[in-house]
Amino acid sequence: MRIVPVPCLKDNYAYLVIDGTYAAVVDPSEPAPVLDAAAREGVDIGAIWLTHHHWDHVGGVEGILQMHPGAEVVAHPTDAEKAKVPKVTKKVEDGQTVTTGPLTAKIIHNPGHTLGAISYVIEDAVFTGDTLFAAGCGRVFEGTMEMMHDSLQKLAALPPETRVFFGHEYTASNLKFAAHAEPDNEAVKARAGSLVTPSTPSTIGDELATNPFMRAKDAAQFAERRTGKDNFKG
Ligand code: FE
Ligand code: ZN
Repeated sequence: MRIVPVPCLKDNYAYLVIDGTYAAVVDPSEPAPVLDAAAREGVDIGAIWLTHHHWDHVGGVEGILQMHPGAEVVAHPTDAEKAKVPKVTKKVEDGQTVTTGPLTAKIIHNPGHTLGAISYVIEDAVFTGDTLFAAGCGRVFEGTMEMMHDSLQKLAALPPETRVFFGHEYTASNLKFAAHAEPDNEAVKARAGSLVTPSTPSTIGDELATNPFMRAKDAAQFAERRTGKDNFKG
């Protein structure tokens, strides 16, 4: 299995998850860069794995299906209803596995950013959409602060070497807030000092060391930090 990041829109990442000539695409914001990347890699898109229903993660579904009409479309049932996409063919819940072609991923339900947000775990990689970013997390739009805190703790339990493929390149500004939230955290300073963009993937270990949201000691501290970040003018 190999993973190819595909920059989309201004700061989004789609990803091709490739086995041989088969690819699943995670969160295609727009079709053209994904179709170009698939052609460059010599792969056929057999599945679209959606982490949540927001337009900047599903906007490319229709265009990809026009070129690959048989591709499966995977989402959590709650977000499948809200996603403005032609057809979700597989609905997946927490703890289930999803197999498309030669690829099998385990689903982690991460309510908070949206109620049906999910992550896909495959081998040593996790695709987290807008739940977990490098040194940050998504805004809590549909769920509660408690839900989002629990969702990040579920991801924190993955092996530390797990590679984290996230939905947006927000790492530089996230690290500014991380330094504000934890001024004495040396790992945050080191990470900011050596940051290279594009910064995908991160690892769970790096997030455990530097992510102020994953590091929050409880839901109350998580909520305080999330609200602080929403209002932060770094
Ligand atoms: Fe989103
Ligand atoms: Zn997004």
